[in-house]
Amino acid sequence: MHIASRIIQATPVAPGIAIGRVKLLHGSGFGNVPVTSIDASRVDSELIRFREALELTRKQIQDLRERLKAGLNEHEAGIFDAHLLLVEDRTMVAEIEHNISASLYGAEYAVHLAVEKFSAAFAAVPDEYLQERALDVRDVGARIISNLSEKVPAAPEYDEPRIVVASTLTPSETVAMPRERVLAFAVETGSATSHTAILARSLRIPAVVGMPREILESLTVADRLIVDGFSGKVIVNPDNATLDAYRLKSREAQKIYRQLSAENALKPMTTDGFVVELVANVDADDDYAAVRRAGAMGIGLFRTEFIFMNPGRLPDENEQFEIYKRLLISAGNDLVTIRTLDIGGDKLSSGILRSEERNPFLGLRGIRLCLRERRDIFVTQLRALLRAGVHGNLQIMIPMVSCMDEVLETKAIIADIQKSLTEENIPFAANLPLGVMIETPAAAMIAGALARQSAFFSIGTNDLIQYTLATDRSNERVGHLYRPGHPAVLRMIRETVRAARKNNIPVTVCGQTAEDMTMTPLLIGLGVNELSMSVGAMPLVRRTIRQLAMRECAALAERALECESSEQVLGLSREIIRRCVPELADM
Ligand code: PEP
Ligand code: MG
Repeated sequence: MHIASRIIQATPVAPGIAIGRVKLLHGSGFGNVPVTSIDASRVDSELIRFREALELTRKQIQDLRERLKAGLNEHEAGIFDAHLLLVEDRTMVAEIEHNISASLYGAEYAVHLAVEKFSAAFAAVPDEYLQERALDVRDVGARIISNLSEKVPAAPEYDEPRIVVASTLTPSETVAMPRERVLAFAVETGSATSHTAILARSLRIPAVVGMPREILESLTVADRLIVDGFSGKVIVNPDNATLDAYRLKSREAQKIYRQLSAENALKPMTTDGFVVELVANVDADDDYAAVRRAGAMGIGLFRTEFIFMNPGRLPDENEQFEIYKRLLISAGNDLVTIRTLDIGGDKLSSGILRSEERNPFLGLRGIRLCLRERRDIFVTQLRALLRAGVHGNLQIMIPMVSCMDEVLETKAIIADIQKSLTEENIPFAANLPLGVMIETPAAAMIAGALARQSAFFSIGTNDLIQYTLATDRSNERVGHLYRPGHPAVLRMIRETVRAARKNNIPVTVCGQTAEDMTMTPLLIGLGVNELSMSVGAMPLVRRTIRQLAMRECAALAERALECESSEQVLGLSREIIRRCVPELADM
């Protein structure tokens, strides 16, 4: 029996509209594993069995990676680098082997125990991106266990193209699906930064997360869904009029996307000749081909914390040097902005931070942690960056700055490192530009002074909004107060831009607002001259910029600064979007 027609508001993570029947996926293949123990005489053969399964797992992941590289692009393939790193992770392998040789568990249960331990460590971190890594660990674990029992999980059967509905979806499951048979993803867990969302966006498969569990449990293969990846709406068993309306909307959206992607080589220039540079946010070290295809002019934000996500093992100087060098070489002459480690507080609680904090968002985070508690990590990272700098066009930026001392101290450390590298006869780039992220109201308010010590500014609106509005960005209970268009936020941006202009340094926005087209007229109207965003969002923002007039955006910004609320601000901005970019206004 079909469940009654109803509309669910989920969270959109990949744009597009899909209409079709349900394909239910259950679990991630990592269910209960029975406890098995072995006799001490079997330890050696059990270790061999485990190592063979591990090797097979490595090969399978490499194959998947190569397949993706051939068919898609480097970025998606890069997701499996994280899986390869896990297979090669000495701490995890040692833990599994210990479970076999010391605790005398059978290999399957030994893997299960280690995976539970490592994934729990990731899941406990109150940072969405790192929490998603728990899923990677489980995904790799499931694969090893399947290989141990010589039973590789089969790709689910698809009789017709369907909407995949699942509680969680791992990257392996996502790419193992026959692409032409998947209309959309509607998933319970995950976020816009989850790997599945990243994959969905690049495969151009609409996706939503946050599907209520009771709906997932009540759906059957006979139910029909509409998934609207623009608004996040999911309509269960729609009536005919709704179906017709969405079919039309879907056809139009597809047409627009085809046109938008054909514009990647066009200059992001307003109708009155103002060029807004578009650069990319990247989290993996090997996806420059995708960046270039999207028409980006470089990398505006490389978040290095993802290099540090292996529990129990920090990347050493050479490892980091190789990663940065590879990225710089692949980017050629394009400018690459690498951010120094931004963890601490909310982003990672164990391994790097030495103690728990009661108020971590206001605690030892980003540059604070690097300068005080973990200067060792900071020096290693800066040495690797300075050395890699000879291989391309690199600039470094520091996160979470709240006072001038932090910039001066960083410069002093860099000067010391340069001295040591010279003494050690190791080549390095001598004059790498050092930029400051404007993420705290304090930094925005002293932007004038900071600008005299900075080669550039990059406004991290994700944090600037949370600190300006005193609204925890990860707490959904105050989500209604997290408002990018708030006049207070706009004033922070204006102060920053003014200071940058006066001191002749460029200013970029690299937070999520850079890819929100409703914010585009406001940001460029305030004088921001570069936007850094995920490559998937770039075509939409490029088209928006190309149909706006700078004159009008500047007037909008002036009016917006005088508004009393973010509703008023966004109302004014939407008016311009509806008039200048009507074809995208509903996206
Ligand atoms: C930001 O705060 O806007 C930013 C880009 O940094 P992150 O999201 O990594 O904190
Ligand atoms: Mg930030």
